[in-house]
Amino acid sequence: MNPSVAHAASIAVRTVRRDARARKDRPAEARTSVHAVLIGPPGAGKGTQAARLAKALGVPAISTGDMLRRAVQSGSPLGLAIRAVMERGELIADAMMTDIVAARLQETDAHAGFVLDGFPRTVEQAHALEALVAGRGDLIAVELAVPEHAIVRRLSQRRVCSQCGLNAEPAHAVALCPCGGALQQRADDNETTIRERLRTYERATRPLVDFYRQRRVLHAVDGTQSPDLVTAQIARAIDSVFEHAGR
Ligand code: ADP
Ligand code: ZN
Repeated sequence: MNPSVAHAASIAVRTVRRDARARKDRPAEARTSVHAVLIGPPGAGKGTQAARLAKALGVPAISTGDMLRRAVQSGSPLGLAIRAVMERGELIADAMMTDIVAARLQETDAHAGFVLDGFPRTVEQAHALEALVAGRGDLIAVELAVPEHAIVRRLSQRRVCSQCGLNAEPAHAVALCPCGGALQQRADDNETTIRERLRTYERATRPLVDFYRQRRVLHAVDGTQSPDLVTAQIARAIDSVFEHAGR
């Protein structure tokens, strides 16, 4: 991270802490909770940004894609069914995804907040999430906008760690992740599946942008900018939410 991002991220963290002090009368988790959801087409940079923000804010990054890929790796019958859906570029059923995320948000590390990457992906999932965070604090939705031609190029070049899910920096032609895992191309990062995932995004997920705009919690960020700049802009958006919360 360059100094300006570190700065932006530290401002976000400081603001959250200051706000926590100003709201001593509220229950502990409601005071400090950041509930952020990242929305954007495949390859918009959600995974990279979720990891950076989560680290800066001290909350977990929760990636439903990573959770599903772990289920696939287990080789169970359910895992095989999930793999078939993912390789077609389609979506896992809303009810099942909601159960998975509900269970994850129950875990203690998520009580202080979270950055969600890959959920919600449908309006039905967004309604379910609203019910899950009701009473826990503010929800902020960040749209990472990237045009289609840039996405196909990004995804067909992308390499991802088979162990921890980390996205490799495209500029670095290395074969190993810092965690020791092998960097590989994802099974669904081939051109046919990429096109289908983009169609799925337009049909099922893009309506969430309006859903969150109507609730006045949407912040749009240009995802074609450098990753550092994108992080800084999201951190600022999170700051503004805490500043205007006025409590
Ligand atoms: P990307 O954003 O690059 O498409 P993800 O890793 O977030 O990749 O998701 C990979 C696949 O996992 C999706 O194409 C979809 O099949 C499935 N998936 C992930 N999250 C959800 C969700 N919330 N609802 C339904 N399916 C999901
Ligand atoms: Zn790794």
